[in-house]
Amino acid sequence: MRTASIYIHIPFCVQKCGYCDFAVSLYREGEAVRPYLEALKAEMASRLETIGPLEAPSIYFGGGTPSLLTSEELEELFVCLKKYVRWETSTEITLEANPGTFSLDRAREWKSLGVNRVSLGVQTFDPSTLKRLGRLHSVEDTKNSFRILHEAGFGNISFDLIYGLPGEGMEQFERSLDETLDLQPDHVSLYQLAIEENTPFYRLAQNNKLALPLEEEVIGMYELAILKLESAGFGHYELQNFALTDRESVHNYRYWHHQEFLGLGVGAYSYWDGKRFGHGKSLSDYLRKAAAGDFTPVLSENITEEIRMKEMVILGLRLKKGIRLDVIEERLGRPLSPGIVSKLDRLALKKLLRKEENRYSLTLKGEHLSESVASELI
Ligand code: SF4
Repeated sequence: MRTASIYIHIPFCVQKCGYCDFAVSLYREGEAVRPYLEALKAEMASRLETIGPLEAPSIYFGGGTPSLLTSEELEELFVCLKKYVRWETSTEITLEANPGTFSLDRAREWKSLGVNRVSLGVQTFDPSTLKRLGRLHSVEDTKNSFRILHEAGFGNISFDLIYGLPGEGMEQFERSLDETLDLQPDHVSLYQLAIEENTPFYRLAQNNKLALPLEEEVIGMYELAILKLESAGFGHYELQNFALTDRESVHNYRYWHHQEFLGLGVGAYSYWDGKRFGHGKSLSDYLRKAAAGDFTPVLSENITEEIRMKEMVILGLRLKKGIRLDVIEERLGRPLSPGIVSKLDRLALKKLLRKEENRYSLTLKGEHLSESVASELI
């Protein structure tokens, strides 16, 4: 039986955050939810039926705000997925949730449906920064939602935090880290704010109206996070991810190991049969095509052996333990090209990579310059 992780995109949010570039539509009274669920189920049938029985090592409901779905709506998706996909009770099933969008009863229902990991969109513990981001929740909502998840019996809770936020100084960021450590989640994903085109933040930045911290401060925040989280027992297992023992994300690990996954829904991407493909970000386009039974991807790229080799190297370097050339060569079934090995050696000479026998991993300098490292390897 073939194996692939499953990603399901739920595109609804109550309000759009100023920095958000994801495939998101406003929830309003939930009027688009029903047609979207019908379209998702039709996509599952159309794509998964032809693949045959599939084993999922992880399932991920991302968004958007999947926690806006009622338990009955979520159950419908599980029932439909079960027709085509097999998984164990121990399989990692993650649901993204925003603080303040669910009750204890709702969290208990997620648990009984099989969700065993919740990724909470905390972002920051600074009240004024939360407002500036356009987030609807308060710091108290975050704490309350975390308590609810614990009470519902979740033993694997991840926090999303962002640093380098407008108006954020080291003091505010340190407070966010301290509050995080006080609550003790099992996993922390730490993202540096990226200013994406077509977002309100991009327009503000263009007009010099976004007070972003200086680059040195942003670097300092990343280093402070490593220091504090590692001292508290979190392993820094990937550039942006920290976990307590055995709490590394199975879903993301598979992605960094360049393994196959299927993405369902608007804006979702798949990597399957040597191709990467996905739907665009427009919900109305997705619904219109789905009504005609058309789930052909809008965007598609052939992952040639050359691209696959480079992606395995670039994604593998995101992991703290880095890459081992012999392991990659065994998966590829052939030696790495001399060109890529000499690029790795050049990066090691520049002290961006650490080289130990046939293993390469990012140095701290390489972590700060990870995008340059990746572009040198392309
Ligand atoms: S809650 Fe997340 S997905 Fe929704 S608008 Fe904000 S950043 Fe985007």
